[in-house]
Amino acid sequence: MPRIPVKLVSWEEITEWSWGLAKVIEKSGYVPDVVIAIARGGYVPARLLCDFLGIENLLSIQSQHWTEAAKKGERAIIKFDYSVDLTEYRALLVDDIIDTGESVILAKEHISNSWRPKDLKIAALQWISSVAKIKPDFYYMEVKEWVWFQYPWTRLEDVTQFLKRIIESSYREEGRVSWTLEDLNKKFIEWYDIAVGGRYIAEAIEVLAKRGLLKAINGSYIYTATTM
Ligand code: AMP
Repeated sequence: MPRIPVKLVSWEEITEWSWGLAKVIEKSGYVPDVVIAIARGGYVPARLLCDFLGIENLLSIQSQHWTEAAKKGERAIIKFDYSVDLTEYRALLVDDIIDTGESVILAKEHISNSWRPKDLKIAALQWISSVAKIKPDFYYMEVKEWVWFQYPWTRLEDVTQFLKRIIESSYREEGRVSWTLEDLNKKFIEWYDIAVGGRYIAEAIEVLAKRGLLKAINGSYIYTATTM
């Protein structure tokens, strides 16, 4: 059984969903003249919406809540609080997914109060309606049951976190310190049930080794917590 529900999202799906979202916005009659991407998850959808809706103006705000995969930070914060004058613009605030909704609520409040656009609407590829504190003006997909969507732009970051959790909890639960690449691949599928490809697993192991969590010894990886 997977430890948390995860769904792998492909680049093709992202393109498809962004087209779908662009059509929803177009049909509504709302014509934004600036797109604001919520960093970091909104970057790719925002850029695609600029392309699909023919919008030249793109800027960004970093409203951050989830600092690691499927693990909530305490509260949302605005990083890099700069100011721009949007009084002449109709804005579209874009994120990948609205989960708790806290990041988008904070970004919207900040933009309304400090950037003051003529109009401001929210668009997201996905909206988790069962948990979100806000409903976006435009969305492509309503998600009823909570899932962690493993987007292509956070693949290495997520795989690294997921492997780290496997290694740390196997040490806590069974005292395990030694892993082969094959073991890690197998456990990854057992825990998360997604096929990310060998490249990501190998690169994530490299990241963990660089951070000092794993050491490669005679073809095995040793969890270093015991020696630290
Ligand atoms: P939230 O403030 O809870 O609506 O989420 C803020 C950001 O965290 C989202 O824009 C995503 O980038 C990321 N995130 C939150 N929940 C998920 C999820 N279920 N799957 C993938 N990414 C998520």
